[in-house]
Amino acid sequence: MARTVHVIGAGLAGLSAALKLSARGDTVAVHEATVFAGGRCRSYHDAVLGMTIDNGNHLLLSGNRAAMDYVRGIGAEHRLAGPAAAQFSFVDNASRESWTLRLNDGPLPFWIFDAKRRVPGTQVLDYVALARLLLPASGKTVGEVIACEGPLYRRLVQPLLLAALNIDPPQGSAKLARAVIRETLGAGGKACRPLIARDGLGATLIEPALTVLRERGAVVRFEHQLRAISFGADRAAALDFGGDIITLADDDAVILAVPPYAATSILRELAAPTEFRAIVNAHFRIAPPAGQPPILGVLNATTEWLFAFPGRLSVTISAGGRLIDTPREELAKTIWGEVASVTGLPATLPPWQIVRERRATFAATPAQDAKRPGAETQWRNLALAGDWTNTGLPATIEGAIRSGNRAAELLARLP
Ligand SMILES: Cc1cc2nc3c(=O)[nH]c(=O)nc-3n(C[C@H](O)[C@H](O)[C@H](O)COP(=O)(O)OP(=O)(O)OC[C@H]3O[C@@H](n4cnc5c(N)ncnc54)[C@H](O)[C@@H]3O)c2cc1C
Repeated sequence: MARTVHVIGAGLAGLSAALKLSARGDTVAVHEATVFAGGRCRSYHDAVLGMTIDNGNHLLLSGNRAAMDYVRGIGAEHRLAGPAAAQFSFVDNASRESWTLRLNDGPLPFWIFDAKRRVPGTQVLDYVALARLLLPASGKTVGEVIACEGPLYRRLVQPLLLAALNIDPPQGSAKLARAVIRETLGAGGKACRPLIARDGLGATLIEPALTVLRERGAVVRFEHQLRAISFGADRAAALDFGGDIITLADDDAVILAVPPYAATSILRELAAPTEFRAIVNAHFRIAPPAGQPPILGVLNATTEWLFAFPGRLSVTISAGGRLIDTPREELAKTIWGEVASVTGLPATLPPWQIVRERRATFAATPAQDAKRPGAETQWRNLALAGDWTNTGLPATIEGAIRSGNRAAELLARLP
């Protein structure tokens, strides 16, 4: 009889691990504490807006190779929408200037030499200085490696790193910034095509994964929160779901794919990130104006990225801790004022919703990055997964999926 692998947590890390293991013939049981799968990457029906929305806008890039494999594996690649080439539109809310950054496909950055493709107000030499971020810089912050000022920083590096690291870039880990730049700008336009789940995160990344898992005979149990693990000499021996105890057979295994604060409440000795950053999203039920780009970077505003969906405009604000205590209506009005001004839509506030994820990601500082554990634990049949484990990437979909794949690989190698 096939062994059973218990995957704890049905976020992207847990789902990707479950998919890999079920594909190789393991019996898989996924245990999720809440009533929904997807974790921090989910859709839900919002009663105020009367429509299904995502907890937050999520952007993938065509170079997110593990994420692309994952969507192909669940037959959902047609649900990711984006332009044929790497283009990013920006508007400056202060100067009213707007421009579109157009990267060329290959890894040699010819776009830097073309004033019509690069960031306005920048020179080729500005980009050369940016190359310092491509050098190894363990333990350093971005602010210690590059000058966080000037038009290239304000108009490209700051918005890119703020979105990717979810931290004010000067405080961010230069090592994580390097990984982002290497896998995006450094890999050329082919790796930078922006991709959005047009029909929602649930329909694109989560429900098709659950369907594939169920087709393979995997069980997904909701409202089944792991409370404790009991251990034998070198292995996890039983899982305690609060009254419901599952005893593990000798070759059974476990992947703990929960957020770091949940993992440390179960494994008390585990070192893991302890600081987090918020992400704020504002959703407005209104049809985007004709010609609105799917994603628009907005500078000199509270709004950072404006996403256009059918019947809805949505704004993302990273490192949004400063906005956590702002009254919701005040925030909605401020953000809508900016959106109306950059889109030309009427100033009257449409139906809105604000979603604030307080612990959206671990704080991508060098100190917090140093606390990230690998997938392996001291117990031979227990592996860790999650965007906060040591993936070498910031907390992203790509990192979460790679972590799940890695944990599955580790357990696949068990004798
Ligand atoms: C608002 C927002 C915007 C984002 N934007 C982007 C973006 O544009 N691009 C990008 O790449 N990434 C983005 N991210 C990050 C991305 O969502 C995460 O990196 C990824 O979803 C993390 O997946 P995970 O599986 O590691 O963790 P989670 O999604 O946190 O999954 C963990 C799961 O474990 C469950 N759980 C917890 N404790 C237990 C327990 N004891 N027993 C059983 N189950 C348990 C939880 O309920 C949860 O379902 C964003 C995140 C947020 C919040």
